[in-house]
Amino acid sequence: MELRYDEDFVEAAAFLCTSGRRKGVSSLQIARFHRERERLYAIPDADERNTAFFRLHLEWFREWGLEDVLADLVKEFPLLRKKLDVLAVRQTRGKNDEGVELYVNEAGRRSAIIALSPGAFERDGSLKDYLRHELTHLSDMLDPAFGYLPELDLPGLNPAQQRLARERYRLLWDITIDGRLSAAGHTPMASREQHEAAFSRGYSFWPEARKADTFANLWRNTAPRHAEFLVLIVDPRGLRDAHQPAPGASCPLCGFPTFAWVAAGALPPDLVPTIATQHPGWTTEQGLCGRCLETYEALAGAASTSGRRAG
Ligand SMILES: [Zn+2]
Ligand SMILES: [Zn+2]
Repeated sequence: MELRYDEDFVEAAAFLCTSGRRKGVSSLQIARFHRERERLYAIPDADERNTAFFRLHLEWFREWGLEDVLADLVKEFPLLRKKLDVLAVRQTRGKNDEGVELYVNEAGRRSAIIALSPGAFERDGSLKDYLRHELTHLSDMLDPAFGYLPELDLPGLNPAQQRLARERYRLLWDITIDGRLSAAGHTPMASREQHEAAFSRGYSFWPEARKADTFANLWRNTAPRHAEFLVLIVDPRGLRDAHQPAPGASCPLCGFPTFAWVAAGALPPDLVPTIATQHPGWTTEQGLCGRCLETYEALAGAASTSGRRAG
């Protein structure tokens, strides 16, 4: 398995070292880095110059021990070395842009991209905790026993319910990852208490005993499986409330953002077939805005009035 880096990531990480924010970088080395870098500006061809910059940054990235941090972590996951061709590291693009993605090309070559903030090299401890969590996700994805599928097959769920089901999947997976890491004596991304509270919120419609049992089983599950998560995430309870359209979300019928959703019980049942005929795929769970309801009520009123006249 080969480690690869985006140019801007390696550059930012090298500069983090020269800024003095990483321990063990001597001022002599920093001076040498800048001298060597200065010289590269003399290369006339832009592509060659960029390649030379990248090579220099990468050299110092290795010299300052940053690659070792990653390589050592990878060694903890035998499946990565066995099943992965490339592990590429890119810079995070924003606050919530972290995590790892797996790609398989037509020839069956597997590569993964992990997003990392170069600033993370300031503190190896928390960097390793983060990497260990993300690489466990990756190792699970590569493990045939886990049975990972990139797309969740969730027939019959509307988009809001699918989103919630995906959030539940993430929640369950993270519990089993941090549970395993804790058992191995590592620092999890979130504590058992934090996970249990999140789980309890996500499955608030379950009795306390079932919540506690299921959580405990997940936390000490040493070999979780995709299929087990699927069973838990499609529990229709809670999902039924998930359709409750958010204030300001778009009405599925007219497409306009609305804060005036029609309450679940306030939709006259005899209007449903008319709406469904005009909007195939619409279900009552998706809701509608007050203005659309008025329109359909007016239409129904007009139809029944003209019906009476004709009769
Ligand atoms: Zn995670
Ligand atoms: Zn509407």
